[in-house]
Amino acid sequence: MAENRDRRDENNESVPTEFGKAIFDRETEKPRSRRRISDRAFMVDEKSLYMHNVKGLWKTFRHYIVSGAIAIIFLIIVSAFFSAKNYTLGYEVIIDGSLVGYIDDTKVVEDAIEEAEKAVKTFVGEDETYTKNPEYVRRLVDRDECMTKEDVSKYLLDNLDYIVSSYGIYIDGEFVTAVTSEKIAKKVREEYLIRYSGVEITDDTVLETKEKYTYSLDYDHGINTLSTFEEAISILAGTDRELEKYTVVAGDTLSGIAEKFGMRSSVEIVALNPNLASGAVIHIGDQIIIEKAVPLLSVIATKTVEYEEAVPFEIEKQDDPNIYQGEYSIVSKGIEGKVKNLATIKTENGIEISRNILSSEVLSEPVKEVRRVGTKVPPQFLRPASGYLSSRYGYRWGRNHNGIDIAGSYGSAIKAAAAGTVTYSGWMSGYGYYVVIDHGNGFQTAYGHNSQNIVSKGQRVSQGQTIAKMGSTGRSTGTHLHFEIKKNGVYQNPLGYVSY
Ligand SMILES: [Zn+2]
Repeated sequence: MAENRDRRDENNESVPTEFGKAIFDRETEKPRSRRRISDRAFMVDEKSLYMHNVKGLWKTFRHYIVSGAIAIIFLIIVSAFFSAKNYTLGYEVIIDGSLVGYIDDTKVVEDAIEEAEKAVKTFVGEDETYTKNPEYVRRLVDRDECMTKEDVSKYLLDNLDYIVSSYGIYIDGEFVTAVTSEKIAKKVREEYLIRYSGVEITDDTVLETKEKYTYSLDYDHGINTLSTFEEAISILAGTDRELEKYTVVAGDTLSGIAEKFGMRSSVEIVALNPNLASGAVIHIGDQIIIEKAVPLLSVIATKTVEYEEAVPFEIEKQDDPNIYQGEYSIVSKGIEGKVKNLATIKTENGIEISRNILSSEVLSEPVKEVRRVGTKVPPQFLRPASGYLSSRYGYRWGRNHNGIDIAGSYGSAIKAAAAGTVTYSGWMSGYGYYVVIDHGNGFQTAYGHNSQNIVSKGQRVSQGQTIAKMGSTGRSTGTHLHFEIKKNGVYQNPLGYVSY
């Protein structure tokens, strides 16, 4: 297109209009020349010229749309390229004639030089001077490739010529950092033990490092590996993450376990344990993989402590045929005993790892507890009506439902769930027609919303005997039986005795 324009400009001002040009482009499909254009132009009659002009109009219109679209697409690609690659106007940094890297701000280099100057004064000598004159070349840089102050500092320190003697600190034989004197290397260990023992230190507390802590005079560490006293301590306290198996104990939750080991959330635990879908239930004794933070250097503290401890009492069980199975009564209450122990307790970073009881003195003996344990079989209840369970026992819609609802057909039989004596038969507010049967063993059953009661107060009824007809009297929205079971005056869930 640009080529066409150029040619047209060369060819002078008598070049046809955009319309005319378009016509001939299409008509001839031959290389254009001014001569051909004018030859053809004289050959067309007015009508076809009109037609050609309409077609040309469309073609030009299309031409504008296409070139506009190309420009927009080009803009999108260019801006996507710049935003994705995150380009910005920055600098190329040259120090002592070598290209160091790219930065987005010269302050990064200035700060790094200032820091290197400080390091030289600290580790080499107060009188030492350190000068660097960086050169900057303006250019487009990728933000992701820009150096940070730390990157530049490292470059500067790596390229220092000073040779300093230093004491390398090693953990299990592996170099960690270096300090300027043996005295500091020694003091770092002492201070570290005190700060990171995780226990209250008393006169008899013995502190030692779990890993082997050694130091030696070295000449091969650059100034960049040197640390001050405080820096060395924090390097040793720096954590590594280690995978470990953990056994779930009472009271554990996934988020609680995550917190215990310094993990960000339960999501991290689920990621390590694919069998634990989110919302999974964990059980005592389950083994799960966790990732715990472990310092480079761990502190083992050994202490001898004296403490009192409770001794649980024994329980003697005696059968009682008058108490229902699963229940018991206490004949004489047990009392915990007490002992005084002297023990050596070992901790790792404050967490107990072993306890060795040296002596144990009984202060008081435990007293056993005597219980009468029920053997009585609970009463057998029949289904009091046929139908389906339309409402369960327990809280629903903010109020306690003290029975179950069985929806059935109007007028169908309601039967005594067990043999007993009718203690109530009549109208009861809310319940409509209502029947209560006492079974004589601490159990009572009740039947509400009946259309009609067939038994009367004081009457003996046998199990399965029809006592009423199903209805919807009282506070009821449809034909159903409201069925309750009470044991020693306390509402029970009827589904523990009858099934629907
Ligand atoms: Zn009910």
